Amino acid sequence: MYHYQKEIQDVFTCGVLVVGAGPAGFGAAVAAARNGASVLLIDRNAMPGGMATAGLVGPFMTCYDDDGQEQIVKGIFDELCVRTEQAGGAIHPSKVEGMTPYSSYYIRSHRHVTPFLSETLAVVMEEMLLQAGVRVMYQVQVCDALREGRRITGVVAARKEGLALFRADTYIDCTGDADVAAFAGLACWMGDRRNGLMQPASLFFEAGGMDREQFVGELERRREAGELGIPSHNCWSWYIREARKNGDWTLDRDEIGNYELPVPNRWKMNVTRMSGVDATKTEDATRAVMEGRRQIRQVMDFMRKYVPGCSGIELIQTASVLGVRETRHIEGRYELTVEDIMRQKHFDDAVCTFAYAVDIHDAEGDGGVFKEVNHYYTIPFRTMVPAECDNLLAAGRSICGSSEAAASYRVMPCCIATGQAAGTAAALAGKTGREAADVEIDLLRETLVQQGAVIRD
Ligand SMILES: Cc1cc2nc3c(=O)[nH]c(=O)nc-3n(C[C@H](O)[C@H](O)[C@H](O)COP(=O)(O)OP(=O)(O)OC[C@H]3O[C@@H](n4cnc5c(N)ncnc54)[C@H](O)[C@@H]3O)c2cc1C
Repeated sequence: MYHYQKEIQDVFTCGVLVVGAGPAGFGAAVAAARNGASVLLIDRNAMPGGMATAGLVGPFMTCYDDDGQEQIVKGIFDELCVRTEQAGGAIHPSKVEGMTPYSSYYIRSHRHVTPFLSETLAVVMEEMLLQAGVRVMYQVQVCDALREGRRITGVVAARKEGLALFRADTYIDCTGDADVAAFAGLACWMGDRRNGLMQPASLFFEAGGMDREQFVGELERRREAGELGIPSHNCWSWYIREARKNGDWTLDRDEIGNYELPVPNRWKMNVTRMSGVDATKTEDATRAVMEGRRQIRQVMDFMRKYVPGCSGIELIQTASVLGVRETRHIEGRYELTVEDIMRQKHFDDAVCTFAYAVDIHDAEGDGGVFKEVNHYYTIPFRTMVPAECDNLLAAGRSICGSSEAAASYRVMPCCIATGQAAGTAAALAGKTGREAADVEIDLLRETLVQQGAVIRD
């Protein structure tokens, strides 16, 4: 233990402080600013987008209902897709079908995904943030939060200049890891409540240089032969099994997710897997990133050797941050469960609608569970409100839900939607003189719908 005391010179004040500029923080900041709040958005990265940009994760998973018939995530998410497509860096989900290179030849829950270029997405996100009037600060790492009773009174962060204090009427925790809530001493739990296990981490990368005709030709051939289409049975599983029969166990994964980008023959690769990682611990995360890089080399070697069209494959880039599926969940006013999702439970305070499958990557092994939802489900506002605090909201993957439920709502279209709901709530709270936790629900829902969000009953 070491005691250290210092006066913080740099103090910033605003109406709404959004911590974390990932999909959730982006949605929250744009929504809060458009609804009249003075918004400051801070992130430890040097770009907005979180996993979507620095993490190279993509495509955006489906924003349609489970039948692939109707788009059920719109609002800021849809505007982002349209504008990124106009900038030449995305294909709108309405034009993308399952069983194609864009969906890695999967179909279940993979119809109407949104392929995008991470670098174009970051530019468009920045444009939307600045046009909305958000003040953005990068390379700011939150390392403490102050709380008096049921209110957060400040957030301490490290900047290049040293420590700074950020003060706001309302705070929105979009760190993915619920860092603000945890630093403020609010109740959170890690991973699966029953055993603390968390879904594995992965390091994404982008590859190119394939002989596309041969690479895609093989996938098409197998699609026509009915060998593709369900998770864990993509084309390359076959090659992995063949290699193992010949005694080559280089690759210990059973599948390779390869999603083509809007630029032909450039692919986002989702294949590395690191289990037992607690990404809220610096050394765990460091080890996992290094292991991810080691696995990427193995995957590239494997593909060069076994996958048709890949002898000339090149590594374009590796994500600069670890891909983290799960860490903390806040203890909120309501915990969304997988039963709520599967039974389409009705919530009077529903603020968004979603339908991606419950996609559980085994915390310890290579397998997983993939359960399609029943048409769609909704997420109640209470999952975003910490039980013991009135001026903090959470959005994105750390909202209050069971580990299994999070295996669906953690994907990016839904994170942008919960972000939009939290940002709108924070702005309305400021306008009506209420705490964000007690915002008028009917007004919140009406405002969201007027601004393009889809809320089904
Ligand atoms: C391997 C993997 C594959 C996935 N595949 C898909 C997919 O194909 N499609 C899909 O739609 N979703 C996918 N997801 C899910 C999705 O990417 C994440 O769940 C989603 O990005 C979470 O959004 P978020 O805004 O809550 O958090 P994040 O995207 O993690 O953003 C959090 C932001 O907060 C910042 N931050 C964190 N802590 C601090 C701090 N203390 N101080 C300052 N800033 C901080 C980070 O820098 C980051 O910018 C995948 C996730 C992983 C890990």
